[in-house]
Amino acid sequence: MVKQTRRQFIASAAASVSLFALGRSYGSTPEYESKRNTMTKDLSESESQYLETIMLNDVELRHLRRCVELATEALNAGDEPFGSVLVSANGTVLVEDRNHVVTSGDRTRHPELKIALWAAANMSPEERAKATVFTSGEHCPMCAAAHGWTGLGRIVYVSSSRQLAAWLAELGVPPSPVRPLPIHEIVPDLMVEGPVPGLAEQVHDLHRRFYSSRGFPKPAAAK
Ligand SMILES: [Zn+2]
Repeated sequence: MVKQTRRQFIASAAASVSLFALGRSYGSTPEYESKRNTMTKDLSESESQYLETIMLNDVELRHLRRCVELATEALNAGDEPFGSVLVSANGTVLVEDRNHVVTSGDRTRHPELKIALWAAANMSPEERAKATVFTSGEHCPMCAAAHGWTGLGRIVYVSSSRQLAAWLAELGVPPSPVRPLPIHEIVPDLMVEGPVPGLAEQVHDLHRRFYSSRGFPKPAAAK
């Protein structure tokens, strides 16, 4: 199969899954999962990443771009570059937040935790289950647990915890006191999508800038 045809095949698979997805409300269903798995089972890693990107519709990509903007705002304020948005089943943006850990001096001030706490206080269990959290970086274990306990629905992230851990290791940043476990290690049955190539590079750049302002990589480590 020539490359062009293969790409076309993936595009038509994505269109098929997306059309199917139009019939679902946000949140996972066994039928949707099974359809996705059938479509992605024979694809290489880069092909399935490509498929994921084109399966996200324009509105979802707009929410993810907003998360990157919020992460940039955090960076410009001196905080770690993370941003998140909570979107209801009917597409309304309910809460936006960015990281505040440096400026507040409180290392739990993650946007995903604020969203989970807001959802617990302001939404019914049904509304929470059908909502989607878009975020620039995959939830840390603290935020994933809060998300899981609150019963929130799908998560779509730009860059994964694994990517972040690799980026920080490359810059010589000491490991965080909390292990960077993937969301599925904390909340196994949640519908989680990401990373999103292209946008993830932008997030990588924000982290480079954040740590560069703090002297990473250290001159001794940078050969
Ligand atoms: Zn967190």
